[in-house]
Amino acid sequence: MTANALINLILNCGSSSLKYKVFESGTENCLTSGIIERIGAPDAVITHNALNGNAVDRTSGEVKNHSAAISAVLARLLGKGGFKKRQIKTVGHRVVHGGKYSAPMVVDDEVKNYLKEVTFELAPLHNPFNFEGIVAAEKNLPGVPNVAVFDTAFHQTIPDFAYMYALPYRYYTKYLVRKYGFHGTSHQCVALRAAKMLKKPLSKTKLVTCHLGNGASLAAVRGGKCEDTSMGYTPLEGVMMGTRCGDVDPAAVLHIMMSEELSMHDMDTILNKQSGLLGVSGISNDLRDIIKAAEDGNERAALAFTMYCYRIKKYIGSYITLLNGADAIVFTAGVGENSPAVRAEVLKNLENIGIITDPVLNRAMVSGREGKISAASSPVKVFVIATDEELMISRLADKMT
Ligand code: AMP
Repeated sequence: MTANALINLILNCGSSSLKYKVFESGTENCLTSGIIERIGAPDAVITHNALNGNAVDRTSGEVKNHSAAISAVLARLLGKGGFKKRQIKTVGHRVVHGGKYSAPMVVDDEVKNYLKEVTFELAPLHNPFNFEGIVAAEKNLPGVPNVAVFDTAFHQTIPDFAYMYALPYRYYTKYLVRKYGFHGTSHQCVALRAAKMLKKPLSKTKLVTCHLGNGASLAAVRGGKCEDTSMGYTPLEGVMMGTRCGDVDPAAVLHIMMSEELSMHDMDTILNKQSGLLGVSGISNDLRDIIKAAEDGNERAALAFTMYCYRIKKYIGSYITLLNGADAIVFTAGVGENSPAVRAEVLKNLENIGIITDPVLNRAMVSGREGKISAASSPVKVFVIATDEELMISRLADKMT
């Protein structure tokens, strides 16, 4: 890279954290990355991976808010021997909820107003913090374009009969209650990669993509376009997750609320933070702990593991039906990339629908390794692909500016 090459700064702002990566514009070359944790606390931790993979710099101290966090990031990026401000071509932001937007947007007043007025209500736990990142970038880097890349955008191709809930129609018109879907940037990233691995044009592929991290969702993707996804109006619907329940009969929720006289806030906490693997096992939201406990004979951990895999299998089956067959199933994110046990359990006994796993390849595909885990004879291929949402955001933001 030349000293004056343009770069893209990619920001992922959470409620108390800021993750960042810098890419050389027009390439997939990640130059540096880092994370600030515990924003707002007096002992925030900044971990900055210096240029060219040199030593990691870890600092602790007060980082008051997101604007201060971005100043701290820029101080490290633009310090002695670092980048020049004029090299920053664009700042790409991960924004969880894009509401009506079906593509990334260069941020202007209209976009900001829409994000504030519509999407804060749709994603109150995420979008206000993503928005803070945009405002902080505008303040710290005047004149540099900001591009918002939405987790929901990839799912805007889902047809109405799939995104509507069978509730009175007025709740759709009044409150925009419908399926939106999340993790779209990740599903899109691995779909593109899978097409390359299949050596087929993306437009000719049929894929079921499984993003299995602490949050988890699946998508049915035909020709690079999403036709359905497991998350819904919020990231609570769908498969079982670390602490989220996934699909559940709403009447059961009402019954629990009435029986225990719970407030909406209490119930929301139970569904989002105390359910899933943690709720069923009573042990942990981390699948590694669940697998270990199950191996040690803990029956509830074993039940949680089986439920988790069973629900993924059901979605895979339903999406293969929607697509009338699939070229490949893709596993990605923390669990998808690293857990041969989950992949083996999910893919067990699917020979009759053309999915045959190679156990040796499956066991070997961990720790960032990418590749095929299906047997040579398997009509449907199975891939493990490392997702890179920041790279995808960089590519999309680059194109827009
Ligand atoms: P993510 O949200 O994509 O960062 O994924 C985080 C989750 O991945 C953790 O909560 C773990 O449950 C899971 N995970 C990471 N490594 C492994 C592993 N080796 N085996 C099973 N699960 C894993």
